[in-house]
Amino acid sequence: MLKHITCTVCPMSCNVELTLGEDNEILSLTGNKCARGKAYATSEHLHPERTLTSIVKAKGGMHPVLPVRTNKPIPKDKLKEGMQVVSKVEAQAPIKMGDVIVADFLGLGVDLVATRDL
Ligand code: SF4
Repeated sequence: MLKHITCTVCPMSCNVELTLGEDNEILSLTGNKCARGKAYATSEHLHPERTLTSIVKAKGGMHPVLPVRTNKPIPKDKLKEGMQVVSKVEAQAPIKMGDVIVADFLGLGVDLVATRDL
């Protein structure tokens, strides 16, 4: 089976083609122009990650909501669960950009942090 992944490490946006075996293992990988693309496509196939970005409710500040994001990418399959948690969070002003809003988010060893002052 073939799988195509666009490498997003640099603006070249190489189209990396993976040939997968019956157990989803990578048999070959082509189309990348450098080793970073191989590492990216391999990681994206085996354990894709994304940075969660969203907003949480906020009290005591000039705005009713506060933009937040995880300070490191989390497994892609945890995004939905993460959004459910985010929907229940309420931040209290004053808050500085970078402040931790939820520590050890989902027990993943990453923090949910504010991306602006409030
Ligand atoms: S494979 Fe290399 S050159 Fe191509 S997009 Fe990825 S990092 Fe850039």
